[in-house]
Amino acid sequence: MAEMHPGKTAYFEGEYIPVEQAKISVMTHAFNYGTGLFEGIRGYYSAEEDNILIFRLKEHVDRFVRNFRILCMEIPESFEDIERICIELVRRSGFREGVYIRPICYKSELSLGPTLKGVKSSLCCYVIKLGDYCDTQAGLDVAVSSWRRLSDNAIPSRVKATGSYLNSSLAATEAKQAGFHEAIFLREDGTVAEGSAMNMFMVHDGKLFTTPPTADILVGITRNTVIQLAREQLGLEVIERPIARTELYVCDELFFCGTGAQVAPVRSVDRRMLRNGEPGPITRRLQEVYFDVVQGKVPQYRHWCTSVF
Ligand code: PMP
Repeated sequence: MAEMHPGKTAYFEGEYIPVEQAKISVMTHAFNYGTGLFEGIRGYYSAEEDNILIFRLKEHVDRFVRNFRILCMEIPESFEDIERICIELVRRSGFREGVYIRPICYKSELSLGPTLKGVKSSLCCYVIKLGDYCDTQAGLDVAVSSWRRLSDNAIPSRVKATGSYLNSSLAATEAKQAGFHEAIFLREDGTVAEGSAMNMFMVHDGKLFTTPPTADILVGITRNTVIQLAREQLGLEVIERPIARTELYVCDELFFCGTGAQVAPVRSVDRRMLRNGEPGPITRRLQEVYFDVVQGKVPQYRHWCTSVF
């Protein structure tokens, strides 16, 4: 779990205010019913540019505002306002290291009853310092969870909703209590979905496989980045298709990816070592390219990085 070192300023109720004053009521709809929607966006410190580069800010804001439709959310802030608020908060934080930006759109009305339509929504946002969220070097020991991934017709995983993270918390807690680093969710049909807060890729015979956007996953920005980098930089074939549990035991390489997780190799699944337990060559290569790209070092993808200062 990441410790919180917040920037001094938060965005709350249309204003920039001291973070400790950004508070909601116990009666807030979102607190009572989990009706919040959020994003997690990373900014990387580039020593070369002495700047913080926010990674794929547009794509995060795009996913965020598209999902407003699912949760019937309307707020006064525009797409461009949300981008500006994210940048401004990093600027005001004064941090010269890795940051994580958390915009949340939430049902802010003090009202009773689990409904969405006609309940007022508001935007808030804060920034914290963030280094590694999970180990990206040694390889993670993961377990298939006994908890099933939320299904699209129950609570859609496509929406990064605050309430959905109860599902993630149950799986991550079970895995950690049993001595694993992370969990892998299966869907109700028994095929693979994703990790508790990250997407998953499998390498088999030199090809890259990941579960499709219809597999009860959050369609990750990092996932999309990895797919594009694998095709364009490594010349790999990338296949989106359902993945069966036991494919995870017999594949060549496995890794998680996400804004928090970045690109994190997996070394064992349900105590079955993958190969020799060392991160595989394709995972390593993708990881190298990914870290270069997020630090603005690859001109072809420099447009994915927004300079803060
Ligand atoms: N799945 C879940 C459940 C997540 O919480 C995250 C983290 N946001 C991801 C996947 C990865 O998404 P992204 O790459 O957009 O951060």
